[in-house]
Amino acid sequence: MPKDPNDFSEPTKTKVLKRAGYTCSFPKCDLRLVGPHSDADGKGTVSTSEVSHIRGARPAENNRYDVNMTPEQRSHHSNAIALCRTHGKLIDSDEETYHYKLLHEWKVAHEEKIRLMQSGEYVPDDEINKPYDKCTDEELKEDRSHRFQLIENEQRNKQEFCKKLAILPISTALILAVMHFIFDYFHLFMIPAGLIFIGVPVKLIMDTLEKDNEFQVRQRLSIKEINYRLKERGVE
Ligand SMILES: [Zn+2]
Repeated sequence: MPKDPNDFSEPTKTKVLKRAGYTCSFPKCDLRLVGPHSDADGKGTVSTSEVSHIRGARPAENNRYDVNMTPEQRSHHSNAIALCRTHGKLIDSDEETYHYKLLHEWKVAHEEKIRLMQSGEYVPDDEINKPYDKCTDEELKEDRSHRFQLIENEQRNKQEFCKKLAILPISTALILAVMHFIFDYFHLFMIPAGLIFIGVPVKLIMDTLEKDNEFQVRQRLSIKEINYRLKERGVE
């Protein structure tokens, strides 16, 4: 157990470091926090980690300190963030910038990233947002067909939505037809009812299917941009 009950125990630190994949949680740092020691028997390890408090441990040290927290809460693993030594120092030196809420966001985002890395689903940001001028011709073409696929998928989602929406005008039309032709009933309210329950959804369905939504417009703009780049390079 640590001397100060506000400090993390060794098992808590280990848990936090493991959850962080033994890498720094500071955005884009990703520095390894453990590694091999160069000793002769090849067994030693070197740790350069800092397990920092999100809400401070002691009032004198920093203003992330919350007087209402108990030592158990301060020393709980949910109040710890794994950082490299540089970033561990940095967050304590500028607490205006490195607010506890921000640190908590980093911890959550970093653990999610490690989870994706472990399952093999992680795609680095710079690969997703790689600028077009840095892409090869093949990458551009691949991105273009991917975007065409996205537009098509979105169109299919819209069709599904419209199928559900179509129930409303179809059933209204049926009810009105039964009332009028079978029961020989007519009332003036049937006109606004028809307009609202048939006219409005039909117009909405037609607009949804015919017009690109914002997502599709964005994809088409990117495709246009890719076509332009490929043309510039003399590829098609
Ligand atoms: Zn770092």
